[in-house]
Amino acid sequence: MLKINNLTAHYGAAQALFGVDLEIGQGETVALVGANGAGKSTLLKCLMGLIKPSGGHISLNGKNVTHTNPAQMVRLGLALSPEGREVFGHLSVLENLQLGAIPLKLSKTESTHRIEDVFRRFPKLKERQQQLSGTLSGGEQQMLAMGRALMAKPTLLLLDEPSLGLAPLITDEIFSIIHQLSRTGTTILLVEQNAARALSASDKAYLLANGEVIEQGQSSALLNDPILRSAFLGAASDSDPAASRLGAAGLTNIRLEKPNMQQQNFIPHFENEAALKAHQLAGLQWTVRHTYEGSAEYREKFDQLNITPESIQSLEDLQKLPFTTADDLRQGYPFPLRSVPFEQIVRIHASSGTTGKRKVLCYTQKDLDDWTDFFARSYQMAGVTSLDRVQIAVGYGVWTAGMGFQLGCEKVGAMAVPVGPGNIDMQIQFLLDFQSTVFCSTASMALLMAEEIHKRGVADQITIKKIIYGSERSSRSMRKKISELFGGAELFDITGLTELYGPGTGIECSEHDCIHYWGDYYLLEILDPETLQPVPEGEWGEMVVTTLCKEGSPLIRYRTRDITRRIPGQCACGSVLPRHSRIKGRSDDTIKFRGVNIYPSSIDTILSTVPGIGSEYQIHLTRDNAGRDHMRLKVERAEKVDAKRNPELNHEVSHQIKKQLMVTVDLDLIEYASLPRSEKKSQRVFDNRIEDEIV
Ligand code: ZN
Repeated sequence: MLKINNLTAHYGAAQALFGVDLEIGQGETVALVGANGAGKSTLLKCLMGLIKPSGGHISLNGKNVTHTNPAQMVRLGLALSPEGREVFGHLSVLENLQLGAIPLKLSKTESTHRIEDVFRRFPKLKERQQQLSGTLSGGEQQMLAMGRALMAKPTLLLLDEPSLGLAPLITDEIFSIIHQLSRTGTTILLVEQNAARALSASDKAYLLANGEVIEQGQSSALLNDPILRSAFLGAASDSDPAASRLGAAGLTNIRLEKPNMQQQNFIPHFENEAALKAHQLAGLQWTVRHTYEGSAEYREKFDQLNITPESIQSLEDLQKLPFTTADDLRQGYPFPLRSVPFEQIVRIHASSGTTGKRKVLCYTQKDLDDWTDFFARSYQMAGVTSLDRVQIAVGYGVWTAGMGFQLGCEKVGAMAVPVGPGNIDMQIQFLLDFQSTVFCSTASMALLMAEEIHKRGVADQITIKKIIYGSERSSRSMRKKISELFGGAELFDITGLTELYGPGTGIECSEHDCIHYWGDYYLLEILDPETLQPVPEGEWGEMVVTTLCKEGSPLIRYRTRDITRRIPGQCACGSVLPRHSRIKGRSDDTIKFRGVNIYPSSIDTILSTVPGIGSEYQIHLTRDNAGRDHMRLKVERAEKVDAKRNPELNHEVSHQIKKQLMVTVDLDLIEYASLPRSEKKSQRVFDNRIEDEIV
């Protein structure tokens, strides 16, 4: 939308800007951070047409506006909330707002309408509309300056030092308003000295020093960058030239609000693949010795195969080891696979399974510490920082979910809001009151919340930027719907299972096309579920895991039943951690239908590609008297899609399913939102064939 190329500016002979490049996309909030005298104000003045640049280009929506005057810039959609507010103290709040619309020559109705809009955003201004602006507090004057700029309904809002000179509480309030503006689609250029605040409120940022851009990138990445952090904190040193460079550039003057914030890096560093493999081999050897010496169950299995700890000389020797299954866990109830004495066990968790005995897992303190650390890593990979507020809407109790989300959140230093599942009213109230920025739940719960927020018309007051969801497969269309209804929130699929510590054993990265898993904590094999032999690289198969440092209940070649595939090569996000695809389903929940094996996820995928089809569906399987199987799909139309389109949609879906899965299905197209929404996992497959058989 806005593009600045190689911009230079002079005050007389003194050069103030040196070839600045900057870009702002539609709907983005971009922060321009720098100390006093770094050139921020000069850049803003060039943009507004208040200073003529001595070189370079500025273009707005593709149009060259380099030498446009201020009045024209306002008409083109730029509005400035200036440093120091500059409200007219002898005029009332209302009169100040009316001034904001004068260059636009609005009708009286339109002007009144816009004032109401501003009052809706800033209720305090409404209360004080007749008061003289000079008698307002600093925070209220700031609101007035922003409100006045919004009167122009700007396509690009320029905020110059909105927190300057304000108390921390008032700063919170101002930034919460900036969050809301940003969430409702206003494009914002935020100029701030308060680096931490500006970075946490923006999508991307430019750091300016001595008239030059010295760093730029995604704000969450910059906020986590150890070099920048040490520069902000003034810890420049000779041994760290980059930090010295930033320090010398004056960035060390930047105020940081939470100087003691956690800045531990949870992403491990391995020089190369060989280094990771050496770590893994040591872990595997340790695990085999630990279980051989600590667990009668494992010892018995090893003895049957003549395996001793010395049998493991390379990672390939993993294939000599016996498998562990859910049955082993159930048979060993109540403390299966326990490999340490009870005095070392500090907690147990159990799976929420409904069939047979629960799977119970033992944890030592080290197990909990490891879990906490790699869960913090999951949050870090999703860009969560200590400035986030994480609303946790997954279950707390004997199962692992809530605990994991909680421990990891506290470890990264973010604020946890532990609500647990359900409680939609409380969830929404907390989203509004606490201005939570991250929401953790199942995909079904996220969809339920998204629809509810939309229904109640509070979407523009919600500040959720990221949704971390797990324990359930989700189709592309479901993800899209959740993200849209949450105002463009970024979704991160998190993996995990109780047997393997709990959630947080891997997470989607910012590239959004894979799951990075923690190869330093467990080994991943992808095997053919029938033959239990490795599948060719990159093909789908069952995930089998072996832990590398788990003490309480270690896992050796544990069959998770989850279906995924390995993704070779390095990710565009830059992380060296290995990756797999999102979980496609479970090897025991494939539908066997007329001799064809179908994963429910392949139905997801097909439905996601047909425009006009919603994200929710059910698969009903029945068997007729002749013993023939039938599949009936109940599929919701997308929101606002008319039933008149049924024949056309029906044709397209049936055709695609026939073409891609080679089966014929009956199709019921039903109204949007008519299938039940669940706070837990939505049941999608209803297999009534077995009952039919019993009858
Ligand atoms: Zn990645």
